[in-house]
Amino acid sequence: MTDQRTPGDVIQLDRVTKTYQAGAPPALADVSMGVAAGEVVAVMGPSGSGKSTLLNLIAGLDRPTAGTVTVAGRRIDRLGEGALARFRARHVGIVFQFFNLLDDLTVEDNVLLPAQLAGASRRRARTRAAELLARMGLEEHRDAYPARLSGGQRQRVAIARALVNSPELLLADEPTGALDTATGQQIGNLLRQLNDDGQTLILVTHDPALAERYAARTVRIVDGQVAAASGPAPRSAPVSAAVPAGDRT
Ligand code: ADP
Repeated sequence: MTDQRTPGDVIQLDRVTKTYQAGAPPALADVSMGVAAGEVVAVMGPSGSGKSTLLNLIAGLDRPTAGTVTVAGRRIDRLGEGALARFRARHVGIVFQFFNLLDDLTVEDNVLLPAQLAGASRRRARTRAAELLARMGLEEHRDAYPARLSGGQRQRVAIARALVNSPELLLADEPTGALDTATGQQIGNLLRQLNDDGQTLILVTHDPALAERYAARTVRIVDGQVAAASGPAPRSAPVSAAVPAGDRT
């Protein structure tokens, strides 16, 4: 198993297995990996290899069948639904390929939604939303509805929404997949700037160019396992080789 884990990691997966159906091969099999604060890591792999499963486990959208998932210092693999929802609201921002904005809310209200869900004060949330919309170059679209915006603008609204609660972790699932090349590069550059400012980022992509250009390290998933990692040398000694699932106690 290829992995690079150190105690201060923002994400630590330890021997994580996810099986959706008894008898079917696991979607993730005995995966261990770590992501340090401030890293940008690309996750690549063929369709069906387990990328979304990995992202869902890190985001606290689902729980593993075995193994531990620690994100931002919290064990989340055994949390109940309510605790997971609170965890997600505070600690993880997610950006999706198709933006997932609410069309009947204004740009500002879309950005404010996670702050409301996290119970933040409206005044402070509006200040934070205004800062983020300025940073995204969207101030003059604050009161617009998403349908009036271009794809690149919608994705920037989605990024602002993902960041409104200042999450430790930003997860981007094919964030440029629905955009033309030039707009995709703008979004890629924006994500890189956020990372330059310290934002830890996981970028799931099919696009090797995006991974190469924006991520310092690429984790490749094949058939539910980490096949290879490329990028800077490991910061710690590799953890011992994987033990077959049946040998675990
Ligand atoms: P990727 O994101 O790389 O395309 P996924 O994580 O979506 O891969 O899927 C990995 C495997 O798990 C696939 O075989 C897929 O069919 C299966 N799978 C994913 N989600 C579910 C689910 N909710 N129920 C049953 N099987 C699933």
